[in-house]
Amino acid sequence: MNGPDRMPYRAILLADLLGTPAAAKYAGDPNRSLLASMIAGQSAGSGCLPHHLGLGEPVFTELLGNFFPGFHSLGRQQSPESIPEWSDLQKLLLDHRAAECDSELWIADILATACAGRDHLWQDLGLANRDELSNLMWVNFPKLASANVGDMKWKKFLYRQFCAIEGIYVCPAPSCGECKDHAKCFGPEN
Ligand code: SF4
Repeated sequence: MNGPDRMPYRAILLADLLGTPAAAKYAGDPNRSLLASMIAGQSAGSGCLPHHLGLGEPVFTELLGNFFPGFHSLGRQQSPESIPEWSDLQKLLLDHRAAECDSELWIADILATACAGRDHLWQDLGLANRDELSNLMWVNFPKLASANVGDMKWKKFLYRQFCAIEGIYVCPAPSCGECKDHAKCFGPEN
């Protein structure tokens, strides 16, 4: 659902979001522009995230009130399948958070929820491009971001980190260099 015909509407929504007067504490939060992109994308029909970004109405209302007061989300009512590894992925993210701002907690929940999607993670999040997701990883989870030295696709990378911690070996080859699925894990995410 990331078609070019969606972009003008998406851009309008993004401008509306960023034009709202954020609370002083949140105006300089590096996640503000990333959350705006997610909400604009979701409202324009992109991504897999459920209404309220999967945070639940009270938390999402708090998020909007702090970051984008006066904006009314047009997010779709949809429910991606819940994934049994959600809490493990969330824990992986929280264990590696930058601990610079409270919004990292929301971002971890949203990211874990988007892992249930079927597209690239940046698409499932409703972001505009992969660079935004890479930026999100560096801002919120810098130790994880720096561990992705081979520029592995982000969703694959998160699962591989989780599997490595848990001692689960699901990969078909002992190393990525020998693997016939290399192209599925690395390379462009367009
Ligand atoms: S390239 Fe192969 S070994 Fe490496 S993460 Fe992907 S599936 Fe696993």
